[in-house]
Amino acid sequence: MKTAVFYGIKDLKIEECDLPEVSENKILIKIEACAICTWEQRVYTGVKKVEYPFIGGHEIAAEIVALGSNIDKTKWQVGDKVVFGTNLACGECDFCKSGEEQNCLDFNHSKQLEGLPHKGMGGLSEYMLVESKHLFHYFGVTPEEAALTEPLSCVVHSCETADIQYGDLVVVIGCGIMGLLHVALAVKSGARVIACDLNSERLELAKKIGAHYIVDSSKEELSTKVKEISHNLGANVVFDTTPIHSVAEESIELVSNTGKVILYSSFYPDEPVSFSPDKLHKGGYSIAGTANSNSRDFVRASKMISERVIDMRPFISEIVPFADVVAGFESAIKGDKYRVVVRF
Ligand SMILES: [Zn+2]
Ligand SMILES: [Zn+2]
Repeated sequence: MKTAVFYGIKDLKIEECDLPEVSENKILIKIEACAICTWEQRVYTGVKKVEYPFIGGHEIAAEIVALGSNIDKTKWQVGDKVVFGTNLACGECDFCKSGEEQNCLDFNHSKQLEGLPHKGMGGLSEYMLVESKHLFHYFGVTPEEAALTEPLSCVVHSCETADIQYGDLVVVIGCGIMGLLHVALAVKSGARVIACDLNSERLELAKKIGAHYIVDSSKEELSTKVKEISHNLGANVVFDTTPIHSVAEESIELVSNTGKVILYSSFYPDEPVSFSPDKLHKGGYSIAGTANSNSRDFVRASKMISERVIDMRPFISEIVPFADVVAGFESAIKGDKYRVVVRF
């Protein structure tokens, strides 16, 4: 089989390796699609440091091709369409054991997975050997759409952390794919949604997927708009999906009493932010972070994608064959796409 291996900055090669044999408790899956996440783009450009050689890829849709002898055949069959949540969480710490794998103490992107020649998450390979606990069925949509289950699962986690209520005013700052998925889920939750970005095309898509208001922050002040719509109360929920610390500060200024600010993105560079502790004290609002997702989020995301409750098709900007994986990365890092998906 073939796998795509990082050997250095912008040094990604397809190499041949052995097809793993199915052991008793494992399932062999044939990868059909793997989306190129921002995380892998940062590995490609060297912003994110990993130990080489490294196999990336964690937004994965696949088909089952072989079952170990101990696998329950009433639950899993050859030919089943599945998404795979790469097993990065340790499974052993208190957070994993409490069902909070997304905040595992020992989250490891560079595990050596059984059946692969190098460390890494493994999705940019033709086959993977996996455990059934990390597999989730999907139905009726393309592998390209199903490959976006992992990003949607992270947004499910974020929106549940925010605990959006009917009629809430929700502000989503940043309309890349992750921001737009927040818009889509917030709309489904019965909220009034303001989407904010600098890019008019992205704002158009935000409008199309249901945002009630769009704010082009190069032309108008978000805080003025939030005051106007909320009659000076502020927003019940503010999602900051940008990696910019000044935007995090602005988000805290927008929230209403008892509201929630969710810092969704990772921050590059990671600089301190300031906020008024007295306003926090008196207003009773919360500032929370979310990252990653757990099995529960995956179950929900794969069901929503299967029924197109959330339609992932607008977010698939480009599909490249596996042989052209380098061209796919070059295209993804231009920053003007939602997702580039590698098709096997
Ligand atoms: Zn991802
Ligand atoms: Zn853990």
